Amino acid sequence: MIRQFAIILLASIGLVAAIFAHGAMAVVPSDYGLVEGDLMSATGSSDPDIYIVNDYGYKRLFLNPTIFNFYGHLKWSNVRSISSTTRDAFSTSGLFRNCETNDPKVYAVEITAEDKGMLHWVNISGEQAVAQDPNFFKKVFCINSAEWSWYQKSGVDYTTLSQVPDYSRLTQEQYTVRLIVHYLKNQTHDSNAQPALEDALRDVRDWYFDQLGTTFVVGSTIIHDFSRETWHWTDALREVVDPCQNNVVFVSFNVGEQWQGGTYGADIWGCSFSVPGRVGGYWNAESNPIGLRGWLSHELGHAFGLGHPIPGYCDTVPNVMGGGYTLWPNEGFCPDDVPTLLALPWFSAP
Ligand SMILES: [Zn+2]
Repeated sequence: MIRQFAIILLASIGLVAAIFAHGAMAVVPSDYGLVEGDLMSATGSSDPDIYIVNDYGYKRLFLNPTIFNFYGHLKWSNVRSISSTTRDAFSTSGLFRNCETNDPKVYAVEITAEDKGMLHWVNISGEQAVAQDPNFFKKVFCINSAEWSWYQKSGVDYTTLSQVPDYSRLTQEQYTVRLIVHYLKNQTHDSNAQPALEDALRDVRDWYFDQLGTTFVVGSTIIHDFSRETWHWTDALREVVDPCQNNVVFVSFNVGEQWQGGTYGADIWGCSFSVPGRVGGYWNAESNPIGLRGWLSHELGHAFGLGHPIPGYCDTVPNVMGGGYTLWPNEGFCPDDVPTLLALPWFSAP
């Protein structure tokens, strides 16, 4: 069915494309001996994901086999083996539209874990979209209702294309620190929480730069609507992130109420309980902004593998791993902890 959907879509956007096709010409499938609708995978590479390519030289990813199998006519045996160079020649798009219901809304997928994704409505007009990206409609892939229903839906719309994740820059090797803001099922979103927490994380990122001369990259925030009406930190995390995604340190907050089993605190909750880990806490409007930043700096230190200083060691330095968050930002790391941090890929990335 996907080919039929694709044809319907092409017919509906053909006029738009003809008018606005002034952008830089991308490669087209025929440059590589491929045709629209071809399935391809760089089978010999470290990224053997399966993609489908469209006429305009954009490709979409199938996040996992479940999604691939929503399209009965797509056969694993038809996946063409390509080189990673060919794969990378086509930009990856995460823009989708449910063509089975002919929904005019375009959604952008945010990949939240190795094989999980969340849809954000791209809540701007077609004219605005084309003004911001003349190739916008060429990047929209038709999906069916089964795939559309599979994704979690974010309550946060994208209101400018700059918010749409750019998968051409994302690699599985990218090391980031990402914020997750969790809400209970049916909980009203607090419009103050996300910006306040993002501000805090950016300040902490800058504070790390002051200590180390380099700092970590902050990835996009995940807004997560938990399926339950009561908090459980581990379950909430499991629902939205892959515990083995060890290139990301997740900073996990719920809003308004304390987590079950803990308040502010660190949790090293990676694959096999090894570092890197997750940092969790809760946020409310009365949160102390300095305490929040000091606490976050400390708990991120744990997530990066630091412990508390041994009494008598490093006592002369007001150090963030020794407590005393109220001193933030006028505190640092014990001198021995600095090379430990600098050796981590979060701080050595170009
Ligand atoms: Zn601690």
